[in-house]
Amino acid sequence: MAKVTLRDDITALPSYVAGARPSGSLTEKLSSNENPYPPLPRVVTAVADAATDMNRYPDMAAAGVREAIAAYHGVREDQVVVGNGSVGVLETILRALTSAGDEVVFAWRSFEAYPILTQVAGATPVPVPLTAGAEHDLEAMIAAVTPRTKAVLLCTPNNPTGPALGTAQVRRVLESVPKDVLVVIDEAYVEFIRDQADPLDSVALLREDPRVVVLRTFSKAYGLAGLRVGYALGRARLIAGFQATTTPFAVNALAQTAAVESLAAQDELLARVDAVVAERTRVLAALRQQGWSIPDAQGNFVWFGVGDAAGVLATAFARAGVLVRPFAGDGVRVTIGEPEANDIVIAVAGEFLAAGA
Ligand code: PMP
Repeated sequence: MAKVTLRDDITALPSYVAGARPSGSLTEKLSSNENPYPPLPRVVTAVADAATDMNRYPDMAAAGVREAIAAYHGVREDQVVVGNGSVGVLETILRALTSAGDEVVFAWRSFEAYPILTQVAGATPVPVPLTAGAEHDLEAMIAAVTPRTKAVLLCTPNNPTGPALGTAQVRRVLESVPKDVLVVIDEAYVEFIRDQADPLDSVALLREDPRVVVLRTFSKAYGLAGLRVGYALGRARLIAGFQATTTPFAVNALAQTAAVESLAAQDELLARVDAVVAERTRVLAALRQQGWSIPDAQGNFVWFGVGDAAGVLATAFARAGVLVRPFAGDGVRVTIGEPEANDIVIAVAGEFLAAGA
């Protein structure tokens, strides 16, 4: 009998695995790189006030948020597109850009949505293995670019491994790839970067080079993961195309309000980021002291590159009540949480090493 069939490549897609909520004896959720702090009271109040208008559609152009983002970055409003999380914005970008047979180059392992969104857009993912130090292998990525390449995705700091890219590195990519290849700089964790020798000013780069698109989110440093707001900055011509491709009303009214209020409360929120970074420094020092070799951690997470022991290590954390994110055959990513949770992480990691597992 005839039946409705989906595209073959959609049926074959791996599903995006998000960190589950802790259940049973699990108490600490360190599996999704969330901000451990609750939203600021002023953000909650603004959202509650906005909720009284929920019978109305939100502003389709999201003018208030785009204006606030543009002012923050010193760009024009027509250089900003917002979406349902930065993952939603990236989906829009890839849909607007690629057709069947086109290729999208990215480091691997990196953000797990990259291959999925590429395939959903109908294009072909080209994953390029990280270096042994868990960093982007930029020369290999440049070599992977072909006449079919439409975009190169750079994730800095790289989720799940941690290292960030410097200006010279991104310039090297821009110099080496053709003029018709989009270079997306995914900076979901940019606010957590500290002490970089060659810090990247991605917004300055996009002023210089029309191929650069910068992806940012309110989910991490701003603590609004549950509301889903992300954005891209780029040249107005491209942004207009992304805007035309996006789902109508992609960012809901409460999310728009929370994003504007969060930008206004930036100092307070960035002080919390400082607290997470201080904890990251403490956790890293403790783990390295124990003998762990952890790559440079510039996001709100640390990477245990244990290869095939990923499942065993994740289970050891789970037994201690901490939910983490294992990547089979590669390693385990653990989000920096509140100090008590981080203490458990340090203790479990120490026992794991001592047991020689
Ligand atoms: N980029 C990277 C590198 C991420 O790690 C994430 C979230 N895990 C995102 C984008 C998407 O974030 P959101 O959709 O919540 O903005």
